[in-house]
Amino acid sequence: MAISDQTIARINELTEIEEVVSDYVTLKRKGQNLWANCPFHEEKTPSFSVAPSKGIYKCFGCGKAGDAISFIREYEGLGYIEAIKLLANKYGVEIEEDQKASPEEIQEKNQKESLLIALKYAGGYFQKLLWESEEGQAIGYSYFRERGFNDKIVKKFELGYALDRWDGLLKEAVANGYNPDILEKSGLIIRKEEKEYDRFRGRVIFPVHNLSGRVIAFGARILKKDNKQPKYINSPETEVYEKSKVLYGLHLAKQSIRQNNNCYLVEGYTDVISLHLSGVENVVASSGTSLTVEHIKQISRFTENLTVLFDGDEAGIKASLRGIDMILEQGLNVRACVFPDGEDPDSYARKLGRSDFQQYLDTHTVDFIRFKTDLFTRNAKDDPIKKAESIREIISSISYISDPIKRAIYLRECSNQLQMDENTLYAQLNSIIRERSKKPKERGNYREEQVAEPELAEMLEESKLSEYQIISLQEKESIRLLLNYSLNVIEEEYKLYEFMLNELEDLEFQTPIFAQILTIFKEKLEQDQVKQKHYCKSLSI
Ligand SMILES: [Zn+2]
Repeated sequence: MAISDQTIARINELTEIEEVVSDYVTLKRKGQNLWANCPFHEEKTPSFSVAPSKGIYKCFGCGKAGDAISFIREYEGLGYIEAIKLLANKYGVEIEEDQKASPEEIQEKNQKESLLIALKYAGGYFQKLLWESEEGQAIGYSYFRERGFNDKIVKKFELGYALDRWDGLLKEAVANGYNPDILEKSGLIIRKEEKEYDRFRGRVIFPVHNLSGRVIAFGARILKKDNKQPKYINSPETEVYEKSKVLYGLHLAKQSIRQNNNCYLVEGYTDVISLHLSGVENVVASSGTSLTVEHIKQISRFTENLTVLFDGDEAGIKASLRGIDMILEQGLNVRACVFPDGEDPDSYARKLGRSDFQQYLDTHTVDFIRFKTDLFTRNAKDDPIKKAESIREIISSISYISDPIKRAIYLRECSNQLQMDENTLYAQLNSIIRERSKKPKERGNYREEQVAEPELAEMLEESKLSEYQIISLQEKESIRLLLNYSLNVIEEEYKLYEFMLNELEDLEFQTPIFAQILTIFKEKLEQDQVKQKHYCKSLSI
């Protein structure tokens, strides 16, 4: 289904950029333009401007610019069509579609909408019970208070309570005109042997929202001691809830993720809420399932930096490491922060209080590969077999990083940290990659090459170098890689020098000596004189 040109023209005609932007940020007039603190990067003085006469915005801090539609796409993380629909809704334009939707499509759309309406109703019902029923107050509300949740946060996350009864929601919803079929399809009630009953009973309720903030599912925690029932249950998958695609808290986190250019990943609903209480809002959790590639893709729409918060127990950390390889494979920069033994983000945030907790995050977050290297080598120091295993583990993680330059940087660091010859590590890396490429791809093919820029830029930024020095360092690193590893196979038949020369094609080196070396290297390559040899271990130019 495509939106008709007339509809798009009508929306463009009505749309005023300042009206759209001021739905999200407060604009102040200065001269011809309007100004605000940029919603896309952290800043204290406004460098984000809107030019109503031209219908565009531009940030002089981070460079983001565009028209009303691109503003909405950027801010809400929406596609073009979705952004048009949002504007159509704002300006009351009815959307005409070019092709008539098939009856099946209309039916599917209507059904999804019915599910969402029922879920919204249920969310309101659970909230009402929390605040207004005796049971909800005595059990549900007092549990939230015990956890340190204040009224504001309970309302922000729309937390609720389900009565300990078989037909609380069922009766109420049917009395209000909801069709039991829809209630069943939305996962709210269960049908078994001609009986119908509530799925959520005697539990506190955590609604799960989609990106635009509509309720699509529920998580629920039991409070009374009952060993026959699981502590947490979740809505089943429905037409509007695909567990593998939904991250808990993302609708509240997206703006903060963008501003901080980082996303914290935690395990549970209460971890997310506790972090919000501590003033950390760029946080999400996978809801009712372990982390998937789809989850990571959702996050990467907003940032390429992910920080995983680990509970302080080593067995637990090791169990969740596999999931992280998947994040590396998606090209994100991963950092890790571990809490002291016996603490999780929720408990520790409560213990430390707002400013100490934020400081803890800032000071204890480390690069993931470095973190993993530490973790595995700590116990393996004097044990050669354990050490070998550790190295394999670490190199295996590095092998998931799809950017060859990033991989090379990590290998060098590991070789320092582990006191191992860099070339031995390279051999190991190549054999892992080769091994994996023989196996059928389990999780689809997503070896998109990415540029190492962000990681490198950040490392260099910390060292307070001038732009010229940075460029020079980058050139030096390129030369170092070329001279040492040009014939290493980085993927399938593809050699490192092929990749690098391709990347460097349009670039002119600014440091004369490196430019000269590169020229000589290319000449030697043409004469087939480049050997599998390490021409220099470190460049001390
Ligand atoms: Zn900006």
